[in-house]
Amino acid sequence: MRVLIGGGNGFIGQSLSQLLRKRGHKVTIISRKPGEQRITWVDVTKKGLPPCDAVINLAGENVLNPLKRWTEQFKQEVIASRVETTRTLSEAIARAENPPRSWVLVTGVGYYPPSQTQQYTEDSPGGDADFLSRLVRDWENVAQLPLTDGKCVTQLTKVRSGVVLGRTGGALPTMLWPFRLCLGGIVGSGRQPFPWIHIDDLCRLLCHTIEHEKGIGGILNAVSPSSASDTNSDFTQALSKALRRPAFLFTPGFAVQLLLGNDRATMLLEGQRVVPERTLQSGFTFLYPDLDSALAALLN
Ligand code: NDP
Repeated sequence: MRVLIGGGNGFIGQSLSQLLRKRGHKVTIISRKPGEQRITWVDVTKKGLPPCDAVINLAGENVLNPLKRWTEQFKQEVIASRVETTRTLSEAIARAENPPRSWVLVTGVGYYPPSQTQQYTEDSPGGDADFLSRLVRDWENVAQLPLTDGKCVTQLTKVRSGVVLGRTGGALPTMLWPFRLCLGGIVGSGRQPFPWIHIDDLCRLLCHTIEHEKGIGGILNAVSPSSASDTNSDFTQALSKALRRPAFLFTPGFAVQLLLGNDRATMLLEGQRVVPERTLQSGFTFLYPDLDSALAALLN
């Protein structure tokens, strides 16, 4: 299969490209910078979609970049890097003479309202709770393709991911050093849900989506099955056990708010209990269904 990946040069994109190539697929990346086996967003806008069977969008400015202040300008960059790249791809798919079979957008479980008690499946409502949930709503809306005679040849799947745990990027490497120095601990109350997925499972799920014989379509929650009950405190204990380091300290909520600003602090101080119901019904099996197995694989 020929697979085109927007933002394929990042943390998830590099692991996904590696897995796709291992499975015999041909990968082309869309980036802001030209290079080998890459095209640019300007190329897609000007020349349209290159011949491909699946398109996946992973482009997005890092929301939790602690070096960037949460200004109006940075918020607009966070939004535009997701919404405009997705719009570019959905418009190119709609214009393509030979449209691809699959169109996959990776968004986030931040779509669902933060709650310590409510459990969310792919059918649960959301999209209007806070900055992140409105972002996911708008991001997913622009991915929608126009119908011809009530049908569309390209099937759209929206993959709502939890925190992706991997060695080479995402949240885990930045969390490791305080734990290694015995300075780790819970964030805020520690009772906030911690929806997560191992990078290998996310990449396998994306392959499962585009390789599925009948296609999947609709929404898939990309979180481990144990995410429905894992909290920040469970994650802290599991990481402390895996690293054999104590984790007595805690970071108070006001410090996170001061450092990151309210919108971003919400992402760390609140969370969603998410169930991968449709994901499991689609026949997907997780290699790492719980924190102990995922952290053992990542840290050993
Ligand atoms: P990365 O930050 O590692 O990579 C994303 C890619 O997006 C970059 O390689 C870059 O490609 C491109 N990009 C960055 N800024 C911009 C911009 N301003 N305009 C256009 N493109 C830009 O992200 P991840 O791989 O971690 O995440 C991929 C997607 O998955 C993101 O949309 C993210 O929101 C989502 N996601 C990630 C989670 C996680 O835990 N990592 C959890 C849930 C969702 P280049 O420099 O080549 O242009």
